[in-house]
Amino acid sequence: MHSYVKTVFALSAAVFLSAALLASEHKEEGKHHWDYGQNGPVHWEEFSKTCGAGHAQSPINIIPGKTLSISHEYELHLDEDVHTTAEVIDNGHSIKVTPKVGGKLEFHGETFQLLQFHFHGKSEHTIDGKRYDLVVHMVHQNPLTQQLAVIAVFFEEGKNNPALDNIIGNIGRSIRMDPQDLLPSDTAHYYHYIGSLTTPPCTENVQWYLLKTPATASKDQIETFRKYYVDNERPVQEIFDRKIEAK
Ligand SMILES: [Zn+2]
Repeated sequence: MHSYVKTVFALSAAVFLSAALLASEHKEEGKHHWDYGQNGPVHWEEFSKTCGAGHAQSPINIIPGKTLSISHEYELHLDEDVHTTAEVIDNGHSIKVTPKVGGKLEFHGETFQLLQFHFHGKSEHTIDGKRYDLVVHMVHQNPLTQQLAVIAVFFEEGKNNPALDNIIGNIGRSIRMDPQDLLPSDTAHYYHYIGSLTTPPCTENVQWYLLKTPATASKDQIETFRKYYVDNERPVQEIFDRKIEAK
């Protein structure tokens, strides 16, 4: 190619690219975002159809008397004891912690790695209609299939939890922590079912494990969390024909 032609070609490509970038920025500006207020849960299907049309959505209300006992292969093996650095951020919907090296969990012969965990100012799932004071969702992923598995740890008011102080006191910073410190003393009893992300895009086929034993947080800690987010919980969804298992 003649060098003049090459220059013209490169220039027009550059003009085309910046026009495309401008257009996409413009689009971004006009786009509204989901939230828990004006663009709250009843509007989420405008962001993702699955939020409105899905038949395996989360969270749900669990009725302990209507659960089945868990099949052996879906029993949970948790291994979150990892000392790691983690980034704590306020992402506009939740306080989110991303560990550099996550722990892992296993069931059905598959391994899921901890990607991040985040808090809701009240629990999203309810047990027999009871909503807990705070919940942490520990989001794991199977790197081979991309499937997600979420551990929900409920909190109720009680003893101060040092692991929470470390998180609340360091929003926007990097901390050293061990994800295991967020777990309650008993992790052997839980509910299990297949649901979805509880925020848009509400993607389904998420394996949910809700630990029956709550962890504790002091009144002060719960209030401090709620200064950031108190109403960031999606209402409970229809169960349809799903089976809820318990151990
Ligand atoms: Zn969540």
